[in-house]
Amino acid sequence: MTTTVAVAGSTGSIGTQTLEVIDTDPERYRVSALTAGSSWEAVAEQALHYRPDVVVLADKTNHAALRQALPAQIAVAVGSDALESVVADADVTVNGIVGFAGLPATLACLEAGKRLGLANKESLIAAGPVVQKARRTPGAELIPVDSEHAAIHQCLRGTSDPRRITRLQITASGGPFRGRTADELASVTVKEALAHPTWAMGPKITIDSSTLMNKGLEVIEAIELFGAPSDLETELGFDDIDVVVHPQSIVHSMATFSDGSTIAQLSNPNMRGPIGYALAYPDRLGAPFGEVDWAQPMTLTFEPPDRTAFPCLDLAFAAGRIGGTAPAWLSAANEVAVEAFLDERISWSEIAVVVEQVLTLHDGGMGETLESVLEGDRLARVRAHEALSRSSHPQGTQS
Ligand code: NAD
Ligand code: MG
Repeated sequence: MTTTVAVAGSTGSIGTQTLEVIDTDPERYRVSALTAGSSWEAVAEQALHYRPDVVVLADKTNHAALRQALPAQIAVAVGSDALESVVADADVTVNGIVGFAGLPATLACLEAGKRLGLANKESLIAAGPVVQKARRTPGAELIPVDSEHAAIHQCLRGTSDPRRITRLQITASGGPFRGRTADELASVTVKEALAHPTWAMGPKITIDSSTLMNKGLEVIEAIELFGAPSDLETELGFDDIDVVVHPQSIVHSMATFSDGSTIAQLSNPNMRGPIGYALAYPDRLGAPFGEVDWAQPMTLTFEPPDRTAFPCLDLAFAAGRIGGTAPAWLSAANEVAVEAFLDERISWSEIAVVVEQVLTLHDGGMGETLESVLEGDRLARVRAHEALSRSSHPQGTQS
């Protein structure tokens, strides 16, 4: 039987790799919908190749141009209602939208009782309790695409009782600035921050990797995925998660059991692996991605992160421990700060300063409803823009 797949954020790094995974088994998977933010030309080209039922753009501006570029058999729609409807119709959605903008797709998929392959960690982090509720919809399944969480998912499947897991080790490449001091980091450029040593990804997550905010967000993501009621539920809290810097990005994460054993998942860094895992689960994809050649010599190293030079990591732990809408505030402030850094309006070190300033203003919101999450996100962005306007770096001071 053919599985229909909605690829949300199809023009991005995760989206294009999802299409490459689908290419390996066209009898098993059919693209039913493609969605993009504003890049209508790229999505039109994909649509001419994959012939989905419908293409959705978030940005209305180029609706007419996209309509004209595609044959009448392919429907064209704009806006978030259309996005929610194509996601609800597909058997599986891979959510590769970047940032808080991915929340409608996450909720629409789970509330329709379908499988969600989740790359868009920001939606789960910002709207934890709301997503957990949606996850309880009969038929709904949340399979992580983030490589660390796909790894932990595989480690947890290796036990009859996930409650026997005592710790999780989430690995981090360390990003392009591993080993640098806080002083050295004060003058790094956008170009340097975008040069990730092991993964080729979209700009936002690449900057998050350079600050270790990505790892902090992944710690919260792990608690949401594996600390909440599900078939792989553990009893883990924030004190039970270690971040381990592993520059080779071969061990994607690990779980340690009550008897002292650690189980890890290993493959070369290649997101097509975790994407294929989420599509095929509980089966496995027939095509290999990132298989390690064990006949070759290889050295794997592990070290603790430098929490002083990379303060975003502990800011995320702090937000996760506060709970409620604090992770939404953290994630929203980070989105605003990363955008300002990419536009060269603030320095790299100021990303953490902005996030910290916003987090200290968190209003204690609980985030139990979608409205309160949306309001938390909105307020945090206002506070982040206020923090930016106080920033010491006027526009254009970076090279
Ligand atoms: P990207 O920037 O390459 O792609 C983002 C996609 O989202 C594009 O298709 C874009 O058109 C779409 N988009 C942007 N704004 C939108 C909006 N407002 N509404 C609807 N669509 C919008 O990003 P990426 O690197 O593919 O990352 C996507 C998500 O996956 C992020 O949450 C990231 O943290 C997560 N992730 C990515 C990787 C990776 O290897 N790239 C790995 C793990 C997790
Ligand atoms: Mg990851």
